Amino acid sequence: MNLGKLDSILANQPKYRIKQVFQGVFGSLIDDWSAISNLPLDLRQDLAKQCSLDVNATLNLTESQDSQKVLITLSDGSKIESVLLRHADSRNTVCVSSQVGCPMGCRFCATGKMGFKRNLSKFEIIEQVLFFARELKAENQRVTNVVFMGMGEPLLNYDEVFGAIEILNSPDAFNIGARKISISTCGIIDGIKKITRQDLQINLAISLHAADDELRSSLMPVNKQYSLTELLAVVKAYLKKHSRKVMFEYLLIDGVNDRKIDAQRLAKIMKNKLFVVNLIPYNPTGEFQPSSHLAISNFKKVLISSGVNVTQRYTFGQDIGASCGQLATAGK
Ligand code: SAH
Ligand code: SF4
Repeated sequence: MNLGKLDSILANQPKYRIKQVFQGVFGSLIDDWSAISNLPLDLRQDLAKQCSLDVNATLNLTESQDSQKVLITLSDGSKIESVLLRHADSRNTVCVSSQVGCPMGCRFCATGKMGFKRNLSKFEIIEQVLFFARELKAENQRVTNVVFMGMGEPLLNYDEVFGAIEILNSPDAFNIGARKISISTCGIIDGIKKITRQDLQINLAISLHAADDELRSSLMPVNKQYSLTELLAVVKAYLKKHSRKVMFEYLLIDGVNDRKIDAQRLAKIMKNKLFVVNLIPYNPTGEFQPSSHLAISNFKKVLISSGVNVTQRYTFGQDIGASCGQLATAGK
């Protein structure tokens, strides 16, 4: 797919034409320009020549019932991964990538190990949702939620991510409410401040993974730039404006961040009724081992007895390595 020229081709068109195109491609999910029959022939031909609607996608062969991973080859040959998570209550969540690779270098993360290639454009982000939306349409279903938890750090690609959110949000396109869209960040403070200034009701998730600076800096280099104190201060400023729950993601890595002292430190900084800690089992990517069930359950007990809100979500798809945040195209 290549919609890079869509904005420039439509630049001099009247508003209602732009609406027709958006409704056709992102609303009705057409895959052939000739299907928008009310467009003038010369515009349609121009679009067909310059804006391919084909998604170059390879589905993971070992797909499971509740999740499906796809490898998408972009028009410059770069490869990204996206995941569809199907929930029993008929919610369908697409986990999208925002960059090819990631520059943040978190030690536990498969994407981090790939290094950074480039940012995705808003249409390359949308392409991932579009692929699954077309699939679901065949079953009379739709994409209900989008999470920016695939490859890359969304707040380092702010404008394109929010350009994509505008299309996801638009009633002429995907019509997905802001409350159904979540952005996960390793803690890019400038980006969180920018979100705070916006009026959009999107959900914010913070990848925390450690509750003291020394450990967090050793796992996530971003912490050397922005300390935990600074991070929590901007999140609290965000809460003053938005008063929406903020999710803190916490991977459990055997012997590294799953000790009693880690749980106690975490409990200390998570005492806020709008904070929710999401405990994620670590998916091994080389260096570390996942925590045992017992360690996870003990960790959880410390948090609960301290009055911290705790959940365990986004754990499906592990059988195909398809859970969000566990994506890497290296070697494919
Ligand atoms: N860059 C953003 C968004 C993508 S990562 C961020 O870091 O928040 C989405 C989530 O998956 C993050 O919480 C990330 O820390 C987590 N993750 C990374 N590696 C993982 C692994 N090996 N197992 C489980 N979760 C992982
Ligand atoms: Fe990048 Fe997020 Fe992976 Fe860290 S966890 S390397 S920020 S994708």
